[in-house]
Amino acid sequence: MPVLVMKFGGTSVATVDKIRRAAKKVGVEVAKGYDVIVIVSAMSGETNKLVGFVNDTSPLYDAREYDAIVSSGENVTAGLMALTLQEMEVPARSWQGWQVPVQTTSAHANARIEEIPTDNINAKFGEGMKVAVVAGFQGISPEGRITTLGRGGSDTTAVAFAAAFDAERCDIYTDVDGVYTTDPRVTDKARKLDKIAFEEMLELASLGAKVLQTRSVELAMRYKVRLRVLSSFEEQSDEAGTLVCAEEEIMESNVVAGVAFSRDEAKMTLISVADRPGIAAAIFGPLAEAGVNVDMIVQNISEEGRTDMTFSCPIDQVARAEKAMAEAKANDEINFHDLVADTDVAKVSIVGIGMRSHAGVAAKMFATLRDEGVNIKVITTSEIKTSVLIDRKYMELAVQSLHDAFELEKVA
Ligand code: ADP
Ligand code: ASP
Ligand code: MG
Repeated sequence: MPVLVMKFGGTSVATVDKIRRAAKKVGVEVAKGYDVIVIVSAMSGETNKLVGFVNDTSPLYDAREYDAIVSSGENVTAGLMALTLQEMEVPARSWQGWQVPVQTTSAHANARIEEIPTDNINAKFGEGMKVAVVAGFQGISPEGRITTLGRGGSDTTAVAFAAAFDAERCDIYTDVDGVYTTDPRVTDKARKLDKIAFEEMLELASLGAKVLQTRSVELAMRYKVRLRVLSSFEEQSDEAGTLVCAEEEIMESNVVAGVAFSRDEAKMTLISVADRPGIAAAIFGPLAEAGVNVDMIVQNISEEGRTDMTFSCPIDQVARAEKAMAEAKANDEINFHDLVADTDVAKVSIVGIGMRSHAGVAAKMFATLRDEGVNIKVITTSEIKTSVLIDRKYMELAVQSLHDAFELEKVA
């Protein structure tokens, strides 16, 4: 039987009624003759609640216990989905990550999937089971501990299953009907894309577009999974949603495909560090060891052998970064006068494959922000994106004005 992977995100399984609605969609595919692997997220809000419990209990928590706790939301929805399907007389059962087993690295809270053996689930398909409901977001480490794949990780579970089972398609059902030129919550001019290239989706996701987890796009690109994003609240059709696919499959596209943003950024500045060989290693080594994901980096011009070093990181890692820097200073590994954290910043980025062959795109971005009176604090660029760090209060304004300036509401 051909296999289909269907993933339902938090809002799509937020209540028992919504689970029933999602189960009906699964039933439609079973009736077409597919063996279906359903990947479920926790009910919406549930994972945030669990993360809150962890932070309230232990701010610099043991990540193994964090995973034991935050993975539990998915167990509930997997069981409920299996029960709902059984009520519809569709043969189904649930699987927690460790039961498959979804084998991951031991990087707790941010583990990578290493392997998904298919024999257990295939044996059940062989016995007449039609749907395997798998709890997304979770796996098991080589040490036998429960792991999680990072926030939004059920997308990655879904794509990894599609690759392992050689599925015909991986359908990601969510609360929007596809991938848009920017988050439709920020501007109603956002336009749904019929297709988007893997590379563009990868950048948009890594720069903050939460519609797909970055790692899921990476896996889909590597294993050539047909990945589709569509609404769990609308009627199904084979053309619905957005197909994430190879660049060659897309006939026409705008120079800028989309605008992404991330509001959870912090800008950290080490004031007056010695400007000497090895200083960057002395700073960013301990930060990496502490699990701080440094993104943008700027080193200022030095004066009398001393300089300021600025970097950005996710806002919830500021405490870790401060602790790592304080320890490095105490151990005489680095010397700085002060560490200043600016937690009122956001990152806004434009992304498009067309930027490879068009000059002046970044300049147009800067001019647009200038016209709106938005000050740019840090800039980074790559072949197909330009990102700026700005005051958070201007984030929506920046996204809307860039969306207008690059005329993203229109097809090229
Ligand atoms: P799920 O719970 O189904 O995984 P998410 O909340 O993780 O859903 O992702 C869907 C959300 O992603 C949408 O509600 C939308 O606000 C947001 N989003 C951000 N950028 C985009 C974009 N470019 N296109 C579509 N949705 C986007
Ligand atoms: N429930 C997890 C989260 O909220 C995983 C997911 O929904 O993809 O991050
Ligand atoms: Mg998600």
